[in-house]
This record gives sequence, structure tokens and C-alpha cells, in this order.
Amino acid sequence: MSQLRQDPVTGIVTVLEPERAGRPRDHAHLAEQLTEPADCPFCAGHEDRTPPSRLELALPGESSWTIRVFENLYPALTAGPGQEWPRDLDAPWPYTGTSGFGVHEVIVESPRHDDTLASYSLEHAALLVEAWAQRIYEWRLDGRFASALVFRNVGAAAGASMSHPHSQLIVLPRVPEALVKELGNFSQGAIAERRCILCDAMKADDDGGRVVFDDGTTTVQAPWASPSSYFMRVAPRRCSDSIADTSPHERASLGAALIAAARAMWGAFGDISYNLVLHDAPYSARHAGLPFHWHVEVFPRMSGLAGFEWGSGVYTNVVDPDVAAGALRDGLALE
Ligand code: AMP
Ligand code: ZN
Repeated sequence: MSQLRQDPVTGIVTVLEPERAGRPRDHAHLAEQLTEPADCPFCAGHEDRTPPSRLELALPGESSWTIRVFENLYPALTAGPGQEWPRDLDAPWPYTGTSGFGVHEVIVESPRHDDTLASYSLEHAALLVEAWAQRIYEWRLDGRFASALVFRNVGAAAGASMSHPHSQLIVLPRVPEALVKELGNFSQGAIAERRCILCDAMKADDDGGRVVFDDGTTTVQAPWASPSSYFMRVAPRRCSDSIADTSPHERASLGAALIAAARAMWGAFGDISYNLVLHDAPYSARHAGLPFHWHVEVFPRMSGLAGFEWGSGVYTNVVDPDVAAGALRDGLALE
């Protein structure tokens, strides 16, 4: 079983999971051959090579699933049905740690191995957002957890081990540091100025012309202070804290915005590795009534985290976000 270990000096929490080192990788190295559909456990017809489905959603007219959710076969975190809390580890002072208590699910996004977000239909992308929202909601109802994170790793440089289109969900008994920080920022803005900092940032990026896509419900922007090149923030115009409470219209609109972000990168750079991370209000923050505005970050992986970033938490970006927004808009227009 994995462990969550916290370093008292950095405050960083690490999931220690030596047993996951042996999990299959069909693109551990860029030069490596990718898995053929015949060998891929995520392809339609290979359902017996994964744990059982926890959710299946199908597009109208499809005879089988379009989207399929199951537990990760090599979960970074697990929580048995009877287990209420993480178990404290016998950690050597001053370290602290608990058992790797949580949930780790894989969301296979398409029955087809070579599908890509950029080529999903609008209905397909809406169904994907529906799956994310349903899983986040389901684990909120469970009551044992503090936060849920959805993410997509696409391409080896983004940390993906499987090439079949998929996203993942990790549910944690605590709120990860990055979200604690964001909650603090949202709270500070609400207390000091009675405003939502993300609504204000969206307005500033509208005014600055850093919009890549906008359908009136969801916007994709290159924020003025983007931490990396061609970084995009995707957010609903309505200030709301969780994707789990969105309307079908808002889910469909997010799907369209994500397709646009993927197409913009495809048009500008071709087949590039990227990450997508959904920042949803932690369950515990909702409970405490803390302000949050949910959003998605999409960022191509053009360079790794170097010494300065790692050492300081200060990021370096070599592309002016005004220029990035223009290049991404051009990329989207090419499609
Ligand atoms: P990524 O590493 O981001 O590409 O995510 C792929 C995930 O799929 C990894 O976390 C693997 O542990 C998981 N995985 C690989 N093979 C299987 C399988 N047969 N059934 C369920 N999960 C799997
Ligand atoms: Zn496949």
C-alpha cells in the first residue's frame, strides 16, 4: 500500500508508491514504440483487462460505452469501503505520514485508441465533462474525503504512461497545498475587496485581448501572468465553485472550450504533450463556505521544471501571454 509522507522543512507531501514502478508504460520514452490497439487494455473489447466499470456513458446511437470509468489497476491511493480514515504512520520525528488513503480512477474517454480531444464531437466532449462531474459528485457524497482532482496527461513529456485517450481522478482525505493556496487567495480577495479574483482576472484578460475562445458561457484565456508558455485558463463566466453543480448547458460549453484549447495547440504546434488539470472547490472548502471559482488549466509541456522554479516556486515564461493568445487563436483558426 502507498504512503503519504510530509517533509517538515518544505511542507511537501509525497505519495510513496514503490510498487507502482512496475506498471505498464507504452510511452515511457519518446522513442519507444506505442502500444498497438490489440495490446491496449483501454480499447473497446478489452474490458476484462481492467477493473470493473464504475460508470459507463454512451452517446446516443452507440451500442456500447463511449466513456468508461474504473479503478486504476495500480492505484496511487486506495480506500476500502469500511475504512473511515487514513492510518497514521509510525513516522520518524519530525516527519509525518499516513497510509495512502484515497481514490484513484481512470476515465477512458473513447472506445477508439487513436481518438484525440481535438477531434471529439461537441456531444462527446460534453459527455466527458458529464463523467468528470458525476465522479466528483459521487465521491463528495461519500463523505470521507476533502478534495478531488481531475487531470489528463497527454504525451510522454506530460507524464503519460498510456497513449489511449484517458483522464484520471484522484480523491484525497486532505486538500493539496496548491489548492490550499488558491483557497487562501480567493478568501483574501473576498474578505479584502468582496470580489472574486478569478472573475476580475477574466475581465482583465478580456480587456487585454488575451481570449482564445469564448462562447459567452465559458472562456479560454492566456492569463496576463501565465506561469508557462502558451498556458491557458478555461473558466465559466458564471462564478460557481464546483463543476459538479453545473447545468447541462455549462457542461456542454466546457466541452466545447476544451476542444477549442486542444485544437488551438494542435494548430499552433501539432502533436504536442500537454497537461489539463481541473481545479474544483475542495469538498471541505464548500463545507466551510469558502469562496472558489472552478477552472481548468491547460498547458503544453515545452520545458521541464528547472532548478530555479523548483527552488523558488517562481516560474519562468519566455512567451508574452499577449503573443501566446494570438498564436493560439491562429492555431484554432487553422482547424
Ligand atoms: P497515465 O500514466 O497518465 O498515462 O495514466 C494511465 C494510468 O492507467 C496509470 O496510472 C496506470 O496505473 C493505469 N493503468 C495501466 N494499465 C491499466 C489497466 N489495465 N487497468 C487499469 N488501469 C491501468
Ligand atoms: Zn487503446
